[in-house]
Amino acid sequence: MLVNATQMLQSAEKGHYGIGAFNTNNLEWADAIITAAQEKQSPLIIQCTSGAMKWQVSFKIVSEIVHQLVEEKNVTVPVALHLDHGSYEACFACIEAGFTSIMYDGSHEENFQTNLDHTAELVKLAHSKGLSIEAEVGGIGGTEDGVTAQGELADPGQCRQIADLGVDFLACGIGNIHGLYPANWVGLNFDRLAAIKAKTGDLPLVLHGGTGIPADQVKKAIANGVSKINVNTDLQVVFAEATAKYVKEHPGFENKAYDPRKLLKPGREAIVARTEELMDEFGSTGKGWD
Ligand SMILES: [Zn+2]
Repeated sequence: MLVNATQMLQSAEKGHYGIGAFNTNNLEWADAIITAAQEKQSPLIIQCTSGAMKWQVSFKIVSEIVHQLVEEKNVTVPVALHLDHGSYEACFACIEAGFTSIMYDGSHEENFQTNLDHTAELVKLAHSKGLSIEAEVGGIGGTEDGVTAQGELADPGQCRQIADLGVDFLACGIGNIHGLYPANWVGLNFDRLAAIKAKTGDLPLVLHGGTGIPADQVKKAIANGVSKINVNTDLQVVFAEATAKYVKEHPGFENKAYDPRKLLKPGREAIVARTEELMDEFGSTGKGWD
């Protein structure tokens, strides 16, 4: 069933495990991610950026796909449909479209006060409609939907100010980067994570840029207060690799190998397998009803 993400992330924070938030791009991706959650009996956050929404035409279509998959596949684990890196305007559109959770990313606003003002307004609106809401302090390195920021460390005092607005979970830079990590990346900053945690108490924290962080660092981050781990590039890479392998193995597309159901199948299966592996790694397997 579709729920907001508050309860599942509070349970994860208390239980010291993480819940993956996996980005969807189309029907096959949504189906693969939801299939993995049901098989692993894991709570799930399935999320969509505005860029991936444009590819799928509208937030309403994304919402309908996820709602119908959950209903028609008789999914019994809790599933939250979340807006990833939403602008102020996108948050309104997703509330309208039937999402159960939103992220307002005000970290790129011209000043911190604008981030605070918008977050405060959207917290009230989201909660009045039963949705959960994530906010962000400080830039996170790398590029997502055309927005680039240097790898930043969030200011713990600002984290506290945003937390006090009543957000349900908070994204904060601790040296993480979107996309693939450069070879000279120095790793997560656990001192900064501890300083933020000291200021924000039991508020679940979110780790963006989950692709390519060594598993031991992810586990350490989860043990120290990170409850939601965003995964996007990782699934894109396994999908691309499986699809490329299929094309290489069927050079002339003999025996109707061009059939999209055959062509997309290995990639779909790769997403299911990788999502299940990550659920084990984050510790959410079997926590569907925690
Ligand atoms: Zn992100």
